[in-house]
Amino acid sequence: MTVEQWQRDSADTADPITRLVNAFRKLPGVGERTATRLAFFVLNEPEEVSRELADALVDVKERVGLCEECCNLTNHSRCAICSDPRRDSSLICVVERTQDLRAIERTGDYRGRYHVLHGLISPLDGVGPDDIYVRKLVTRLQNCSADLEVQQLQKPSADLEVQQLQKPSADVEVQQLQKPSADVEVQQLQKPSADLDVPRLPVEEVIVATSPSVDGEATALYLQRLLDPIGIRVSRIASGVPIGGDLEYTDRVTLARALEQRREM
Ligand SMILES: [Zn+2]
Repeated sequence: MTVEQWQRDSADTADPITRLVNAFRKLPGVGERTATRLAFFVLNEPEEVSRELADALVDVKERVGLCEECCNLTNHSRCAICSDPRRDSSLICVVERTQDLRAIERTGDYRGRYHVLHGLISPLDGVGPDDIYVRKLVTRLQNCSADLEVQQLQKPSADLEVQQLQKPSADVEVQQLQKPSADVEVQQLQKPSADLDVPRLPVEEVIVATSPSVDGEATALYLQRLLDPIGIRVSRIASGVPIGGDLEYTDRVTLARALEQRREM
């Protein structure tokens, strides 16, 4: 069958070609024309091609899951990075998506481990810490040490803070996130741990590498408030003028941020 013939009598949505076109249209960046082209490509290729495509699609969903340690995508229980003993386990880089992890890996400079959140806290969109993999990170830090200091995280005070983030009235949460003095919960977290002589935790630093967007910043701030009081250093990736970039064409916010986060030479 040709595209023209199909288009003449394609009103029937139960038609297998229409079904395939509609399936391809769900892919990102694929419109009607491309979807139709792909469908007819598959139709005109030998059966092995479509069988291989179908098998690969099913296989990726069945076999690829989340790393039990860092939530990276993997077809094993632990991903290659978590299984690599040469990676520095005292350093965890928190990213929004697996693609961000891959981008950092491509630099070849980072030797620590990761934690993939699979989203960002977004009070305005009603996305709270429990909607992404924040708890998993906390559990991971807890598993690193049975210290009392870490157990403070489980106290109701920490949960309260989380619940407040999830409440529907989004504006209040944003204010609570931003107001430095409003965090009674954080202060309560800090108090008991200060009295204890606790050994150093295996994880010493959490680098928050979320994007410099509103949600990225809200997530970074939340993690800093959650982890800093228990003695884990929380740092944020710098953002500024791109290498080789022209100051003249750098946007105002980026330039302001670059000036603000200047470092001594
Ligand atoms: Zn992993």
